[in-house]
Amino acid sequence: MPRDDFSEKTKSKLAQRAAYKCSICDSLTVGPSEEGSDKVNITGVASHISGAASGKGSRRYDLSLTQKERASIENAIWLCSTHGDLIDGDENRYTIDELKRIKKNHEEKIKMALNGIDTSNGIITKIEINNIARFKGHSKLEFENYNIISGGNGTGKTTIFEFISSLEDMKYINRWLKRDEKELLTSYFNIYYYREREMMYQIILDKTNKLSCLINGAETPLFKSPIKILYLNINYRDYSNGASEPVQNELEKIASYFSITIDELCNVIAFIRTKRKHFINDISISENKDNLYIKMSDASFLRRFNALSAGEQYRVILEVVLKIAEYYAEFRSTILIIEQSAVSSVDKDGINKLLLTIRDEKMGFQFFFVMYDNIEKYKTEGYKKYTLNKKEGKIQPRLL
Ligand SMILES: [Zn+2]
Repeated sequence: MPRDDFSEKTKSKLAQRAAYKCSICDSLTVGPSEEGSDKVNITGVASHISGAASGKGSRRYDLSLTQKERASIENAIWLCSTHGDLIDGDENRYTIDELKRIKKNHEEKIKMALNGIDTSNGIITKIEINNIARFKGHSKLEFENYNIISGGNGTGKTTIFEFISSLEDMKYINRWLKRDEKELLTSYFNIYYYREREMMYQIILDKTNKLSCLINGAETPLFKSPIKILYLNINYRDYSNGASEPVQNELEKIASYFSITIDELCNVIAFIRTKRKHFINDISISENKDNLYIKMSDASFLRRFNALSAGEQYRVILEVVLKIAEYYAEFRSTILIIEQSAVSSVDKDGINKLLLTIRDEKMGFQFFFVMYDNIEKYKTEGYKKYTLNKKEGKIQPRLL
């Protein structure tokens, strides 16, 4: 039987699409050769997904393919020489479907790296919204490491982040379980998460408001995401930790606001002291752990948190939330979502500082800023930007 080998052009295109890295182990398969200053050493191989020839030794041979299909780039996968050998010794583990999945995944990863997107800590790459609130029909938004979603009131900004945050805690979508529209449609919200490989989380609400959760298409009784989500959606100054009396202990209030314990907050503050600070100069805790003392960036002395202006207090909140996110991101995928309304009296300079700090410091988490203000006023270079517009009662996301 003749072998349906790949042409040199096909091999070269395949290798380039894989960035000359093995699709299984990611190791480099190209580099300089010592034979000469213009010589190249290629150690990778273009392997057949479905075998090149029938008969003994050929793996995954598919009789139904034509010769042309068998020699096409669709039937090829770029591998290091070890994995090239390995897939031809194990067709039980490396099935046609599995190799196609590995190839697609690798090319996806290379594509994101080419666009400057860092997926090493895991990020949400895409969401799809179908028939939820004013998102009529199908909407899709693609994300990068740093993102801004802008839009006026009632354009669904919060809806998006409530669904994303439901990966962390289902309480965020409680109000959608009680939706009471005239004609309920089957709605779903898909979240695509990428770290090493793609995972799809799907939240479905059927016509009777029954909720089901699927991971990669399979229904799951427990919806546990690999992502830590920090969602700053409540204004700190409006926040009361269930207490009807005005809060006496500011430290308790801040800890409760971030859903952490006072001891954890003390650890975070110790962490802030060792790190570069962006919004404040210094921070310390009173001896009996009931108050915070802050030295703002433009001040020379410590003041009690309670004595700061609203704008200054929000800057402290921002410093704390950045460090909490950075802390989490050292160990797991972390997403920080800040609604502008949660830090409402931070002025334009403060917001710009936040956007630039997160973009430039590479703190390891994915970031979403949810903006009600006019996006043009701010320094948003390096951010993936969407604006949500309401048109004839429908919401339309538009990439800026
Ligand atoms: Zn390999």
